[in-house]
Amino acid sequence: MSEATTLDRPVQAHAAAPAKRSLVGLDRAGLRAALLEAGLAEREAKMRAQQLWHWIYWRGATDFGQMTNVGKALRSALADAFSLDRPTIVSEQISIDGTRKWLLRMPSKGPHDRGAEVECVYIPEADRGTLCVSSQVGCTLTCAFCHTGTQKLVRNLEASEIVAQMMIARDRLGEWPDAAQPEGVVAPTDGGRLVSNIVLMGMGEPLYNFDNVKTAVETMSDGEGLALSRRRITLSTAGVAPMIPRAGEEIGTMLAISLHAVRDDLRNTLVPLNRKYPIKDLLDACHAYPGLSNARRITFEYVMLKDVNDSLSDAKELVRLLKGIPAKINLIPFNPWPGTKYECSDWEQIERFSDIVFNAGYASPIRTPRGRDILAACGQLKSETEKLRARARLMLESGVGEAGVYAATAE
Ligand code: SAH
Repeated sequence: MSEATTLDRPVQAHAAAPAKRSLVGLDRAGLRAALLEAGLAEREAKMRAQQLWHWIYWRGATDFGQMTNVGKALRSALADAFSLDRPTIVSEQISIDGTRKWLLRMPSKGPHDRGAEVECVYIPEADRGTLCVSSQVGCTLTCAFCHTGTQKLVRNLEASEIVAQMMIARDRLGEWPDAAQPEGVVAPTDGGRLVSNIVLMGMGEPLYNFDNVKTAVETMSDGEGLALSRRRITLSTAGVAPMIPRAGEEIGTMLAISLHAVRDDLRNTLVPLNRKYPIKDLLDACHAYPGLSNARRITFEYVMLKDVNDSLSDAKELVRLLKGIPAKINLIPFNPWPGTKYECSDWEQIERFSDIVFNAGYASPIRTPRGRDILAACGQLKSETEKLRARARLMLESGVGEAGVYAATAE
């Protein structure tokens, strides 16, 4: 593949009639409730929910007709009342490095809702395939270096909308028992899964959407369905300290902290949430994260900003602060976006910084930016979409139809 590719049309046409409610993404209780609503008796609803669970989350069914162990009459009753639709894929972009980014539109919630849009990114690596999932539409945190923070929050994603991101990735990668792998998708040679890891590092602050994230993680890790171990799911937070121990107890994923600064004055400007929960509170909460051990470490993310947080004394202070916490440190080269005042640290400086952290006994990988050509890298999500919107408005004003909007993503 020599250049990024882009779909020029949405994968599903936008239905004109009010769409039937999709069962995709619902948790077990939600499925049972839907079946009761459709008129099934309690006992039968329970049994059918179990069957549907298998078809939806184990087999990836997209049609009730596939569900051969469900009677024909019930299959057609289900098809009348519900769908197995996924969110609409507005665009799919494939980077030259194999990273894939999907812009997804959630079903409209009413006459005034165009359908919220979020982005989701798949990053294939030699030993794993990581799906970066969004938890909110936009973000309220306004971290100074993050592009998502310049866009206003629209709303929390529902649990089903978080799960649907994984469903779509597996659809597009052909990762279901009966699916064929599409061209360009390389299955891992060790027989491992294409989506082997999930990071809640897309748009939004997952701990501000606690209940839905919790339910989504339950669904994605359920052994009779999507079956992705919680140890392969990482929740990243900008530092909502009081929720961190609870997240450990109730959600039980791996934890990542967006630290980015070692002094409160600087962190107050980079991550304004720090004014509410300063570094000490945040690290105390990390100490209290259940199940920490050398095999189960907290990841600290540290974005490398030239002449802002990248001095060698910052590196030493970082090591001092993290003493006693089983940790690894991800150094993220800053991904610039239009209008930002920050620059990425020089490569040699990142290496010197990394050496100090490494010599103190911490793994300190420098994260290679992935998918920069399709604006899929950290902190770049949604920006493209916003630009497209602006361009679409111009086009509409000049009489170019809606189709032009999607074609424009190919640039
Ligand atoms: N709100 C959560 C989840 C988002 S994770 C959190 O803050 O952890 C997204 C990660 O990308 C965070 O570590 C964030 O700080 C980092 N990031 C944001 N903008 C970035 C940019 N322009 N370059 C590099 N990393 C960035």
